Amino acid sequence: MFDSLTDRLDDVFRKIRGHARLTEENVQTALREVRLALLEADVNFKVVKDFVERVRERAMGQDVLKSLTPGQQVVKIVHEEMIELLGGQAQELDLKASPAVIMVVGLQGSGKTTTCAKLALKLRREFKRKPYLVPADVYRPAAIDQLHKLASQLDIPAFPSTPDQNPVDICLAALEEARRSGHDVVLLDTAGRLHIDQTLMDELAAIKAGTNPGEILFVADAMTGQDAVTVAAAFNERLDVSGIVLTKMDGDARGGAALSVRQVTGKAIKFVGTGEKVADLEVFHPDRAASRILG
Ligand code: GDP
Repeated sequence: MFDSLTDRLDDVFRKIRGHARLTEENVQTALREVRLALLEADVNFKVVKDFVERVRERAMGQDVLKSLTPGQQVVKIVHEEMIELLGGQAQELDLKASPAVIMVVGLQGSGKTTTCAKLALKLRREFKRKPYLVPADVYRPAAIDQLHKLASQLDIPAFPSTPDQNPVDICLAALEEARRSGHDVVLLDTAGRLHIDQTLMDELAAIKAGTNPGEILFVADAMTGQDAVTVAAAFNERLDVSGIVLTKMDGDARGGAALSVRQVTGKAIKFVGTGEKVADLEVFHPDRAASRILG
């Protein structure tokens, strides 16, 4: 998905890498190209501005390392700043409590239900945990069925929620049931709406207060670009989320959301969804993503 950005930056870097001497002018030219490439990839304007400024400051202020040409050094700085922009180190999940609660939130259609099932599978396979799935979206009855279907396909137990129940009650009862039946991670699939909505936010805040989740993961559809970033900021402001899952990274999204969401919210991207199948969820590694972008 970062392909066009990669091609574009590759051209810029090919030109600059060979320079034995860097002048303020050719750094400016290169950074102008970097700026354009990022904007075309739909990265938030302010994020691009700050990014280019940081690279410029470091490039101009630094002694040239003997082992690198000045051109290579600029490329190195862009690479390091790109890793920083994407969040530095890969972030682990907080699964200390028993059962640990992971609350999954986001707009309708962003991929919450699918992500809950994918995470449950990953937690069982790779973290050797015993997950318990909780359908708590009572407004879209199909969501409950959808999670139950995925749960039985994966052979992971799910709480028997019904649409007439209150979502906070469902989550509390499910937590009790998970404790009783020896499950050590509870995944709460909460309701979404098409747009940010006060009633929904109040309900999510009540679920948070009642269940004390170690993780609140905001699910963002990468295909929605800048919108994903705006919505993430709103959810984060109300719920103080602990991390972000970017879904549909297998589509032709231009990467802007991935590059902006961390900077705008201050929260790490923890996972990326890379397809519709239950195994299509990857831990997000900022360094690998930066390398992929910069070639
Ligand atoms: P929810 O309303 O937030 O619970 O969203 P769903 O989990 O129902 O997902 C909405 C649609 O997005 C479904 O058709 C999913 O198969 C699809 N989807 C979710 N994650 C991904 C992903 O990473 N890649 C792709 N291609 N599709 C996804």
